[in-house]
Amino acid sequence: MSKPQPFLSKTKYVDGVKCLKLLWYEYNQRDLISPPNAALQAIFDQGVKVGELAQKLYPNGIKIERQQMPEKTHAKTLEAAKLRRPLFEAGLIYGRTYALPDILVPVEGNAWDLIEVKSSTGVEDVYLIDVAFQKYVYSGAGLKIRKCYLMYINNEYIRKEGIEPHKLLIKEDVTDKIKPYLAGIKKSIESMLTVIAGSGPSAKVGPYCDQPYACPLEDHCWKFLPEGDIFQLRGRKERLYALMDQGILKLIDIPIDDSLNEKQLIQINSHQTGKEHVDKDGIKGFLSELKYPIYYLDF
Ligand code: SF4
Repeated sequence: MSKPQPFLSKTKYVDGVKCLKLLWYEYNQRDLISPPNAALQAIFDQGVKVGELAQKLYPNGIKIERQQMPEKTHAKTLEAAKLRRPLFEAGLIYGRTYALPDILVPVEGNAWDLIEVKSSTGVEDVYLIDVAFQKYVYSGAGLKIRKCYLMYINNEYIRKEGIEPHKLLIKEDVTDKIKPYLAGIKKSIESMLTVIAGSGPSAKVGPYCDQPYACPLEDHCWKFLPEGDIFQLRGRKERLYALMDQGILKLIDIPIDDSLNEKQLIQINSHQTGKEHVDKDGIKGFLSELKYPIYYLDF
């Protein structure tokens, strides 16, 4: 008997938009995906806290407890939707896609507004991709979605006493902004499901590995780089990808030409000679300009 096709969640869909190779590993060889480091985990934890604050804006909301089987969460969501109250983390399935928007708010005409909460301070393309996927799944599952919103942090908010979620959080209507990301989404989803079931695509590393977020498969994909690799060079990286394509992988092998700035030349020279570079006059000059008392800002 063949294995059932897995569900494509919004997080995996966003990963798939970034790189199909990452998507394949997410489903087929997760052991090579790096777990979040402490900094990334702190960002995730902060996201959970912001999500909880957003839920306070809808005091009569119902939290849908996520079940292990998406089908069960789907059934619970449909049941709760009949009450026409705000729903938190409601999960619905459409075909082999599955989404859990942060907040669904009932509105007139038996419709719903979808709200995705982000612990950022503005709208980014990757969030629009995320919301477009959710709208696609929810509409496909039979819910009438009136508007889609992103809710994020108001960076001008000044806390006086307790946090006031209605002042801390901004709600922006992104119904029109997600339209370009909805066009062709069905085809993208179908291709992703085909990739997941396949034997694994190849992908060339590039600047996109770090954009819009660092890929958790970088340790695996980038392990071909030797010690003292070209990407340790200070400054802009565009040219380094061209060098990589020419087979130049070590910093000491970077050709010296006019495109290099002074600091880069110092760095390459130090690597080639194995000698440290100390600008004694520069340091003396800097120290002589300092006036006591000296203040430090550490953060
Ligand atoms: S490191 Fe780059 S090439 Fe490898 S999976 Fe991630 S985005 Fe794709």
